[in-house]
Amino acid sequence: MSTLQEEKCDVLIIGSGVAGMSAAITAASRGLKVIVAEKASYYGGTTARSGGWLWVPNTHLAKAYGHHEPPDQALTYIRDQAGAGFDEARVRAFLANGPKAIEFFTSKTAVQFDMPLTFPDYHAEAPAPCKGAARW
Ligand SMILES: Cc1cc2nc3c(=O)[nH]c(=O)nc-3n(C[C@H](O)[C@H](O)[C@H](O)COP(=O)(O)OP(=O)(O)OC[C@H]3O[C@@H](n4cnc5c(N)ncnc54)[C@H](O)[C@@H]3O)c2cc1C
Repeated sequence: MSTLQEEKCDVLIIGSGVAGMSAAITAASRGLKVIVAEKASYYGGTTARSGGWLWVPNTHLAKAYGHHEPPDQALTYIRDQAGAGFDEARVRAFLANGPKAIEFFTSKTAVQFDMPLTFPDYHAEAPAPCKGAARW
């Protein structure tokens, strides 16, 4: 028979994929006590089995490789790809904060990214095709 034990925390994260772990690491880095509750036997969720590729325009990594992506260029690309689902405020928040997130993880955590010198765009015919992709 198991006994229940009460635990207190500032932030309770449900699920240990990239969404949950990113939030957990960020909260912990600000001094908050975090508990990550995972229902599976292993941490990582789908994220642990994924290819790990991500596209965040205008990161410091892309700039170091000589990729300069003006935010409006990425906005144009996403607007074209998202169609009716385009949400400008949300996309602008992604473009403004995505590079900060990559900077945070590479400078403050063990998470590091490789970056290919070139990466094919799945939709190269779209306006303002994307350039920089990174893989953790
Ligand atoms: C083979 C493969 C390759 C992929 N490659 C890429 C890629 O290259 N680039 C890309 O952007 N995306 C890729 N994806 C998609 C990407 O992996 C997912 O979109 C992403 O991992 C989702 O992250 P998440 O944190 O939202 O969810 P998850 O990683 O699935 O994490 C959710 C976690 O929550 C847990 N959970 C659920 N319910 C509860 C509960 N009630 N209580 C406690 N825990 C709970 C789950 O067990 C799981 O651990 C790939 C997916 C697959 C399958």
